[in-house]
Amino acid sequence: MTIVTRFAPSPTGLLHIGGARTALYNYLYAKKNKGKFKLRIEDTDKERSKDSFSKDIYENMKWLGLEWDEKVIYQSENISAHVELAEKLLKENKAYRCYCTKEEIENARSKAKKDKKPYRYDRKYRDFKDILNKPYVIRVKIPLNTKTVLNDKILGKIVVNNNELDDFIILRTDKTPTYMLSVVADDKLMGITDVIRGDDHLTNTFKQLILFNLLGWKTPSFSHIPLIHSKEGSKLSKRHGDLSVKQYKENKYLPEALLNYLLRLGWGYGDKEFFSIEEAVSLFNLKGVGKSPAKFDQKKLDNVNNYYYKKIPLEELIKIIKDYYNIENYTEDYLKKLLLVFHERSENITDLIENINYMLKEKEIVFSEQASNIIKSTKKEVLNIIFNSLKNVDAWFAPNIENTLKKVANDLELKLFNVAAPVRAAVTGKSHSPSIFKILELLGQENALERIKKSF
Ligand code: GLU
Repeated sequence: MTIVTRFAPSPTGLLHIGGARTALYNYLYAKKNKGKFKLRIEDTDKERSKDSFSKDIYENMKWLGLEWDEKVIYQSENISAHVELAEKLLKENKAYRCYCTKEEIENARSKAKKDKKPYRYDRKYRDFKDILNKPYVIRVKIPLNTKTVLNDKILGKIVVNNNELDDFIILRTDKTPTYMLSVVADDKLMGITDVIRGDDHLTNTFKQLILFNLLGWKTPSFSHIPLIHSKEGSKLSKRHGDLSVKQYKENKYLPEALLNYLLRLGWGYGDKEFFSIEEAVSLFNLKGVGKSPAKFDQKKLDNVNNYYYKKIPLEELIKIIKDYYNIENYTEDYLKKLLLVFHERSENITDLIENINYMLKEKEIVFSEQASNIIKSTKKEVLNIIFNSLKNVDAWFAPNIENTLKKVANDLELKLFNVAAPVRAAVTGKSHSPSIFKILELLGQENALERIKKSF
């Protein structure tokens, strides 16, 4: 049997990291089993669904490398088939018309709340035979006095007494199918063999199992992934910052880093920390998924991102910085030398872009207060001697520059630091930088001297 999994987001918000992890596990499970990974957009809630959110889901899944097989299925396009199924169940006496009014339901709900009991529909119309000329919903006739067993591949065996389940609605008064029916219908239509999703759907699963049975369909296997919690232990929500994949992409996180972090967030393979996508495909299994909620740790994600960032080849970095700086006038060789100096010293791409700013934006050096103070507190005649000595350097290479500044320090009986610091402040606007001799070499003599002259 070919394994077929699916990711079934509702396009009511941006793709967030929880959804991306669900998509990833479905993707890996399908690929590992040489099966198919499908995408279904659950867009039946017309008011909350937006095309822009579907677009965001496609873009960010692609960015993460989670390409789906075959064309995207839109749940809204299958509605008439779902309605037919509700009618079929009705005809077979596996479902029934319920004529309760909204008010009746509301009253029963408030009463339950007052009595501090969970609300459950009282199955009033379950055995009602007449057909009334009144609005109705179609409810499922849950088989009573029996049990529904879920053999979850992650959570294990869970048994529910059917008498505790609601005769839930499958078709609303306006003849639209409910989520519960549409999911089952589409999973069947798409030939889904394995449903892997967040454990917030666990209670739905029992109802869906019953629907599968009533419809006479083989049930897929289910795997419920414990949700992601915040570091403090509460459920992750919008309140915990913007955890959309888009946001991470905009902040220049690397897709392989986010993917690796999400993979390990809830799944493990011994102590192994980093996985290429090929390794993830070959090693992934549902057994390795934890049964308790994983905790989202931004710092850890940053560390993973840093690990992948350090591995980016210089050629790639050049392509990345092109979006931020006009580098047309620089040779590839020069840019490589520059990035070699700054790559290691930066934490991530954002940091790198910020750190090389003073190297590439020649006219826009911003002086930190510390840098200004360093220059101000250095005697004018010392600044002049430094300037003139650097002007006289014949071959502008780091070792020569270093020797020159050492000699100035020696002659003036100063520490090298006191000579190098004002130079650094003048050319970078900062009190810290990579080797100032290397920086000066990279800037070129003319450019460096111009900067020094301007600020000394
Ligand atoms: N559309 C549902 C959601 O976004 C997922 C349904 C499912 O996986 O069965 O939570």
